[in-house]
Amino acid sequence: MSIRDRYAPSPTGLQHIGGIRTALFNYLYARSAGGKFILRLEDTDRTRSDQSFVQNLYDTFAWLNLRWDEGPDIGGPFGPYIQSERFELYKKYALELIEKDRAYYCFCSQERLDKVRADREAAQGASGSHESGYDRHCRDIDREEAAERVRAGEKCTIRLKIPLGESTKFHDHLLGDIEWKNDDVNPDPVLLKTDGFPTYHLANIVDDHLMGITHVLRAQEWLSSTPLHVIMYKSFGWEHPEFCHLPMVMGQDGKKLSKRHGATSIDEFRRQGYLPEALLNYVALLGASYEEGKEIYTPEELSARFSLEKLNKAPAIFDYKKLEWFNGQYIRMKSDDELAALALPYAITAGLFGKAGVEPEGTQKLTFIAAMPLIKERINFLHEAAEKLGYLFSEPPTPAAAEFIPKKSDLAQTVTLLKLGRELVRPMAKSNDADAEALIKAAAEKAGVKLGDLMMPLRVAVTGARVSPPLFGSLRILGAEQALARVDKALAALSAEVSG
Ligand code: GLU
Ligand code: ZN
Repeated sequence: MSIRDRYAPSPTGLQHIGGIRTALFNYLYARSAGGKFILRLEDTDRTRSDQSFVQNLYDTFAWLNLRWDEGPDIGGPFGPYIQSERFELYKKYALELIEKDRAYYCFCSQERLDKVRADREAAQGASGSHESGYDRHCRDIDREEAAERVRAGEKCTIRLKIPLGESTKFHDHLLGDIEWKNDDVNPDPVLLKTDGFPTYHLANIVDDHLMGITHVLRAQEWLSSTPLHVIMYKSFGWEHPEFCHLPMVMGQDGKKLSKRHGATSIDEFRRQGYLPEALLNYVALLGASYEEGKEIYTPEELSARFSLEKLNKAPAIFDYKKLEWFNGQYIRMKSDDELAALALPYAITAGLFGKAGVEPEGTQKLTFIAAMPLIKERINFLHEAAEKLGYLFSEPPTPAAAEFIPKKSDLAQTVTLLKLGRELVRPMAKSNDADAEALIKAAAEKAGVKLGDLMMPLRVAVTGARVSPPLFGSLRILGAEQALARVDKALAALSAEVSG
């Protein structure tokens, strides 16, 4: 059997971690088995669905470089892949269930339904366990009479006739055998609304059937709908797909991942400087384990390793620190050119090249690229590049004298150290790291001072801070003239301080 699975989001919100995890697992499962991964838009809720959310979905998946084999934008043999373009079809299938006596017309007014629900909730305590709370009032209306009332134009919905006194069994790939008493399933839910629009349940199973979906991998919150779906498949006389409800994604406090924990929409992660590869890699581990001791996987490696057997039952914990670590790892894997291209938009926004929004000009872009080796090992987010490299693009203000002074040293000695360092600027700016280090080490030894003490005032003079990207690389990028100018300025300030 060739596997066909799908991601079936309702475009009623931004794409978030949970949705991406569902999509990715379906994608990997299809890839792992040489099957097809399908995108279907479940926009039956006309008031909550919005085109901007559809666009967000396309943008997100393009950014993540996750592609489907069939979908609304690229078509396929089972289209259309947008439910609002399939409404006629659902009506036909709802009527088929009426024919089979597996569904019936309900003529209850909204007022009546509201009252039934309110009474039931009052009787049960506020929690009213069923979403519709319907009392099956119209279930026993004579079929002929009902058909007559419909012909006469009376307003109605179509409801599923759940077989009572039985139970429904199905197998969940992860959770095992599940059995529900039919009497506990949402009582005879609406399939087709008064306006002829389908409900989610009807559209979802009709489409899974017609699109030849073999596996439904979806979030665990859908588990409680599954008995109903199985009953619907049986009512049609169809085989149901294999179900696999994915482990929940929790925050570190064990509560369902939400805004309270941090970013959840993919847009937000993107703005914060995460790389799509890092995010995908991390999300692929949310509820699945592949190889002992291996954490970094390319999408191809994941596709080759994924199987339903790799899924965990236990909820997945979303750890922002761990994701940050992944991001750092992926940043280190980039070439200088790649990293510069990725970090550049953030640097422009941050105003690294002048005011916020100003593009690099002249040699600034080359400088930016050349500076990537200085920060690649030190940043976990793309926006940090600009924060760390400011001193290469504009002269930092000369720090207060105290900033220059190495531990256990004093101002007078610091001036001596900086003068000594000054002599090394020209040769070091022309040397690679190893040679520059050899030079300054030799000088420190000769003068009988600690290497760190010799470097500190020079670093502060050149970069404007005690903690900075590597000094030797900074000297090369700035060039001897600019570096010397900064050292001289610092020397002047320190000397004034000594004599003053
Ligand atoms: N439209 C549903 C959702 O938004 C699909 C659930 C399913 O995968 O069956 O998640
Ligand atoms: Zn009714």
